[in-house]
Amino acid sequence: MEDSSRQGTAGGAVPFYAPTGNEVALFEHAHRNRLPLLLKGPTGCGKTRFVAHMAARLGRPLHTVSCHDDLTAADLTGRYLLKGGDTVWTDGPLTRSVREGAICYLDEVVEARKDVTVVLHPLTDDRRLLPLERTGELLEAPAAFMLVVSYNPGYQNILKSLKPSTRQRFVAIEFGFPKPDAETGIVVQESGLPADRVAPLVQLGNALRALKGQDLEEGVSTRLLVYCASLIRDGMPRDEAILASMIEPLTDDPEVKKALLRVAELTL
Ligand code: ADP
Repeated sequence: MEDSSRQGTAGGAVPFYAPTGNEVALFEHAHRNRLPLLLKGPTGCGKTRFVAHMAARLGRPLHTVSCHDDLTAADLTGRYLLKGGDTVWTDGPLTRSVREGAICYLDEVVEARKDVTVVLHPLTDDRRLLPLERTGELLEAPAAFMLVVSYNPGYQNILKSLKPSTRQRFVAIEFGFPKPDAETGIVVQESGLPADRVAPLVQLGNALRALKGQDLEEGVSTRLLVYCASLIRDGMPRDEAILASMIEPLTDDPEVKKALLRVAELTL
């Protein structure tokens, strides 16, 4: 089956997540009211961690699917597979989530094929139905089931933005990068590097983010800051860690790279 994974089952440890606004309460309200949730925001700003945290908090299993341009509705719902000479129906992660009353998280949902939308529509209105044409089943989602999708509005691709008819079925929240103090706390927690050594990295991250849209498509994510701090905590010289985790991942252009290195020199 695709890249779905089952994480955070009932009773498991709750993954660390530092809230940056009212997102925890919003998620809980949405879950109680059986509303699907759309998370908007740049890559690496904590969306996936947030969903894992909330699933564990609510004691629900979580099935996560990283969507890509070959992902079809059947990858989510399921298909007949050959097993030892027999053809056996195998649930996909969405069907499994509906049956189990789990949380299903479709990361970067706009990447998926168009037929995925067709499956999501009856699940995201008040019918909360998942029709499985192949098996003839019509599954009604239990109260505990929740659909969460994310997308990155920053990728300016007109073909790949969510259609209004789809996005208006979701309660939505925008994620951004945490404020410097909060981000420092997150990076300290995740990497184990002390705050006085993390703070300048966060400052550099913000300086590099300010260049987004000019020379850069995406700024430094919290994820990259965590990588950088982890490399340094592991003994890598700071400048090498910065190059490997905050500069190289952002650009292939030698001129832009030079400019980013200059920003690093001036900031640190
Ligand atoms: P996204 O799903 O938005 O691409 P992730 O949830 O994978 O991003 O976040 C990337 C990493 O950044 C996480 O693994 C975690 O280490 C860290 N992170 C980002 N934001 C937070 C936060 N608010 N609380 C805890 N960790 C965070």
